[in-house]
Amino acid sequence: MRTPFIAGNWKMFKTVGEAAAFIRQLQPLVERVTGVDIVVAPPFTALHAVASAARGTNIGVSAQDVYFEREGAFTGEISPGMIAEAGAAYVIVGHSERRRLFGEDDRVVNRKAAAAIGAGLTAIVCVGETLEERERGETLAVLDRQVQASLAGLTGSFIVAYEPVWAIGTGRNATAAQAQEAHAHIRRRLADALGAEQADRCRVIYGGSVKPDNIRELAALPDVDGALVGGASLDAASFAAIVTGSRAAAV
Ligand code: PEP
Repeated sequence: MRTPFIAGNWKMFKTVGEAAAFIRQLQPLVERVTGVDIVVAPPFTALHAVASAARGTNIGVSAQDVYFEREGAFTGEISPGMIAEAGAAYVIVGHSERRRLFGEDDRVVNRKAAAAIGAGLTAIVCVGETLEERERGETLAVLDRQVQASLAGLTGSFIVAYEPVWAIGTGRNATAAQAQEAHAHIRRRLADALGAEQADRCRVIYGGSVKPDNIRELAALPDVDGALVGGASLDAASFAAIVTGSRAAAV
């Protein structure tokens, strides 16, 4: 049985004050929720404040990105150790916005994931096809390539996030059939790489226009183990409704 995992990716939203206030709003809404891992990913500037506000609660903290070096002359970058010290236990790597806007490829994603895991973080590794790739019938081939290259050699703690690029921030989520097909395919590839037992334990979460009104259907799918939520995670009530919706789908 895989514990559902719901993470909110705040992207470049919320000041330190807004982020801490969010935790104070979210905490009473989810404090009685058990059996779901609840995580928020604030911008780097708010990581420490959010981790402090969330200490002693059932809310975990993730960074949105990481660099793969431990330290050095890498202006603007943040190391896995710095993220862990700030109080986060997770880091998102390979988000499609990083791949598209900042030129990150599978090799970089793989190095980031390996460095994060090496520092004791859980890497949330994002994969997913563009609309053009889906329309050309290449979805499963793209996932094969990304899963193989982004996860190459990884051992330890990671989660795979299937995020079809065409569903991110568009209000157009994957249908249940599309999500289940992609997730089952990813799990088959994980089984090829890691063996059936480990693939069965690995969480594969869905991202792309998840909202309170579609989480139940998605979270009820056999190979969907939760969600990576962008826009709908910025409001505490909406994020809490997604958390409780995923819990309801899991029982
Ligand atoms: C995301 O940023 O990972 C995401 C899935 O965004 P949204 O939920 O807004 O589509």
